[in-house]
Amino acid sequence: MNSPEIKKDKHREIEYTNSKKLSCNGLDGPLGHPKVYLDMGDKNQIICPYCSKLFILK
Ligand SMILES: [Zn+2]
Repeated sequence: MNSPEIKKDKHREIEYTNSKKLSCNGLDGPLGHPKVYLDMGDKNQIICPYCSKLFILK
């Protein structure tokens, strides 16, 4: 399933996960953010609204 609105640019942090429900608290150090829970729903990838990290289902 393609999602053309999501571009994989070189600067984006990408993490592969085996769960559609996950949490993110940002990057290590001062760039972190409050922990948020993300749910991919019927998709197989999601972008964290805080740090723009892209999570992709394995
Ligand atoms: Zn995040």
